[in-house]
Amino acid sequence: MGIPRLIIDGDRLMTMQKRQFDTLIIGAGGGGLRAALQLTQADASVAVVSKVFPTRSHTVAAQGGMNAALANVTPDNWHWHMFDTVKGSDYLGDQDAIEYMCRAAPKAVYELEHFGVPFSRLDNGSIYQRPFGGQSQDFGGDQAARTCAAADRTGHAILHSLYQQNIRAKTHFFDEYFAVDLLKNEDGQVLGALAFNIHDGEPVTIEAKTTLLATGGAGQLFKTTTNALINTGDGMGMALRAGVPLQDMEFFQFHPTGIAGRGMLITEGARGEGGYLVNVDGERLMERYAPKVKDLASRDVVSRAIATEVREGRGCGPKKDHVMLKLDHLGEDVIQKRLPGIRQTCITFLGIDPAESPIPVFPTAHYTMGGIPTDRYGQVVVPVKDTPEEPVTGLYAAGECACVSVHGANRLGGNSLLDILVFGRAAANHIIDYLKDNRYHKPMHQPSVDTALERMHRWDGNGNSDDNTESIASLRNELKTVMEAHCSVFRNDDVLAEGVNKVEALSKRMAYARIGDSSQVFNTARVEALELENLMAVALATIHSAYARKESRGAHSRIDYPERDDLQWMKHSLYSLENGLDYKPVRTRPISVDSFPPKARVY
Ligand SMILES: Cc1cc2nc3c(=O)[nH]c(=O)nc-3n(C[C@H](O)[C@H](O)[C@H](O)COP(=O)(O)OP(=O)(O)OC[C@H]3O[C@@H](n4cnc5c(N)ncnc54)[C@H](O)[C@@H]3O)c2cc1C
Repeated sequence: MGIPRLIIDGDRLMTMQKRQFDTLIIGAGGGGLRAALQLTQADASVAVVSKVFPTRSHTVAAQGGMNAALANVTPDNWHWHMFDTVKGSDYLGDQDAIEYMCRAAPKAVYELEHFGVPFSRLDNGSIYQRPFGGQSQDFGGDQAARTCAAADRTGHAILHSLYQQNIRAKTHFFDEYFAVDLLKNEDGQVLGALAFNIHDGEPVTIEAKTTLLATGGAGQLFKTTTNALINTGDGMGMALRAGVPLQDMEFFQFHPTGIAGRGMLITEGARGEGGYLVNVDGERLMERYAPKVKDLASRDVVSRAIATEVREGRGCGPKKDHVMLKLDHLGEDVIQKRLPGIRQTCITFLGIDPAESPIPVFPTAHYTMGGIPTDRYGQVVVPVKDTPEEPVTGLYAAGECACVSVHGANRLGGNSLLDILVFGRAAANHIIDYLKDNRYHKPMHQPSVDTALERMHRWDGNGNSDDNTESIASLRNELKTVMEAHCSVFRNDDVLAEGVNKVEALSKRMAYARIGDSSQVFNTARVEALELENLMAVALATIHSAYARKESRGAHSRIDYPERDDLQWMKHSLYSLENGLDYKPVRTRPISVDSFPPKARVY
């Protein structure tokens, strides 16, 4: 326990808590918990801060599984997995990081097995693997089955096992604490964060020699999303405010099969098990767009196919605004054994049993490919003078909030659970080494604490004046509507230009927002305001990066620039609040094998 410090804030006098740890991890999803376990087991003192109880983090919702070339069902090896990932990324992924991840994948799965994850089994007792989109044998040959699954509740199994392991290892948790901003010393080095207890609003400075951001994605940018309400890009907002640019934010994944109009996810595993999409005429539509692999083409391809069918009038339902996912031919046994969770979701939310009737689906915001730039050791990297990237001492990021970048312009299903575990662990290992050489805490710069406190108190109702008339809830709704209308599956210059103006205007209106009068304000309202500030910053990065990129690559589809343009655009975007857009080269050189040069991407 650190020494409490008195601070005077307006007419209030309160005790400001200060705590010190070797490492602060912000986020208790799979990425944060994997890192925490590695560190605690190495005897580092670790604080994990999470705004929800750890096992409610979005990782819990992952259904389909996690990729690793175990070769339990089809012949496989890590190099084929690497090829598929590079191709899936539309050649924007960094090949050193992709090689590292694919090589580490089998070990990551066996580790989880030993942590207690109850993977589904084949008859011979080995781990069950299902085919997922974009998986091939022998560099683009036959379909592979690479996704290790615990029925359709893989994330649930992983998150609960990791949490239990952390409890056993005695990781220190700050449950239901909201991290506001990163804190720095006089030289600008990050030394922890300011957080507050959502229950009573009490702030605490958590000082740490190293800080790892593991705050997950920003699916709440869009109106229809598979993401939980908590996925508001907080870590990305914190990074932007600390002067770290966000990378490749124009690449947002729309999952082909969200329940139409509502957004709940129907896992790609449903197509992996043999389900397929049909249009209003009952045609198997993917035959037109990906003749070879059909429904198991990569996600951007399938999402565009569905959006095109609807646009051309072949959608289903009274408004012709969705297509159907057919599973009934699989039989009740397969559905109950392999997809019990999605069967229940359909019965609960649609009153439909997929063993009998098809499911209405439409592309739905799902995954943030971009994020805080890191190298393959999880170190946050920024451009310095003439170099494209230099590590920021002591600051790390892992999981969906990071961009390492293994997913490039399009993530393959099953590669995110893998990413969070592999790079959560890699970041922890780098931190362990760093701590050996950096044994003492450095002094905090008080103005940095004061700025974070000020931002937090802006939302306790005291700062309201008569000019503050905007409501947080309606601004958040407007933002999500604008992003969905202007930055969705298909984009063009006019739509994006209008989107840029609208998001800029919305973010300016934040200055006039209020959350109610101080006597009536709950901390949940304060949390929503702080989350919206983060979403606004992330939305600016997303829409500006999308408007600037004049090509089509992966999930970024420009109707006015339909081709991929490797000559001009095979580069990562970087957006910072101060300097706007910048670019840096893709790390095309793997660690030990030959590079995969860009090719036309057909499935
Ligand atoms: C419905 C769904 C299904 C999916 N299925 C799959 C799948 O089958 N296979 C696959 O590979 N991927 C899947 N994904 C993607 C994958 O699950 C996620 O990318 C991954 O789990 C993200 O993990 P994470 O650790 O980065 O973050 P999360 O699990 O999102 O955790 C973020 C953590 O950060 C904390 N946090 C955030 N902001 C703050 C703050 N300001 N203060 C304090 N704490 C904060 C949260 O409390 C939480 O603990 C799916 C995603 C969704 C939405």
